[in-house]
Amino acid sequence: MKAFTYERANSLAQAAAASANPGAKLIAGGTNLLDLMKLQVERPTHLVDINRLPLDKIEDTPEGGLRIGALVRNSDLAADQRVRQQYGALSRALLAGASAQLRNKATTGGNLLQRTRCYYFYDVTKPCNKRDPGSGCAALGGFNRIHAILGASDACIAVNPSDMAVALLALDAQVETLDAENATRAIPIAQFYRLPGDTPQIETTLKRGEIITAVTLPPPPTGKQIYRKVRDRASYAFALVSVAAVVDAAGGKIRSARLAFGGLAPKPWRVAPAEERLIGAPASAETFDAVASDVLDGARGQGGNDFKIPLARRTLRAVLTAATLT
Ligand code: SF4
Repeated sequence: MKAFTYERANSLAQAAAASANPGAKLIAGGTNLLDLMKLQVERPTHLVDINRLPLDKIEDTPEGGLRIGALVRNSDLAADQRVRQQYGALSRALLAGASAQLRNKATTGGNLLQRTRCYYFYDVTKPCNKRDPGSGCAALGGFNRIHAILGASDACIAVNPSDMAVALLALDAQVETLDAENATRAIPIAQFYRLPGDTPQIETTLKRGEIITAVTLPPPPTGKQIYRKVRDRASYAFALVSVAAVVDAAGGKIRSARLAFGGLAPKPWRVAPAEERLIGAPASAETFDAVASDVLDGARGQGGNDFKIPLARRTLRAVLTAATLT
């Protein structure tokens, strides 16, 4: 590990100002950052510890939703009664992620900012445009079983690893931030992540010195919520395909649906035409297949991950079947 200096932030303004310095990184749970530092994939010169900031509350909003502080631990969020009862997809997505020990440390803000688990990103002897811009991409033509079939570029085919973010996308969450000039923003989570293009090292729309303070959820949606994750083993594994669904159906017809996908793309993936097709449609195999075709329009495998295309189709069909059962 490279040497670094350390500072404990006592206020949000101090944290934002300190993180604006080149080479500085915020640390909270550290469940991803410390691993990356040990491998010298991340080499911050200064760490800003934000663990003592007052961002660890889950509060009701005046609109009837929830405001989740950036430092709320994943295990506390999954166990919150309001989340379990009204945002079940989020609770289940959190519990599908990592291990109990990691969930006890990992925070809401850190979960959103965790880095890809592409093997080559973690191996500093291999070319990787995300770690070392302009060096190439070892996953193209390499071992790419876990990589993207949607939204990738010639520079990077890595997927976003977060389960939580997939559920947040289906729930229309917003990410609240504060920057070094004391300005705040509420970023719809659909606009929080960037596609890789030719700059895969830039993963979010956050500016330097802009820190996540909270995630807000709108009032609970109507309908059944599901989070289904398909992975190589039953726990402590990242999604090959995951689906978060909020589906309102009755009498064999679908009134509305929101669908978000993980494991398929560089960011949590949502396809408006697929959701529009479901409005007023019968809950039938034909409808579900047509929706899967909308979602997978333009999907392209890289050899090792070709199986994700039929796997995503089957997973979506199973989720929609479960969501529309009366
Ligand atoms: Fe790096 Fe992205 Fe290629 Fe993986 S897929 S090696 S993260 S550039």
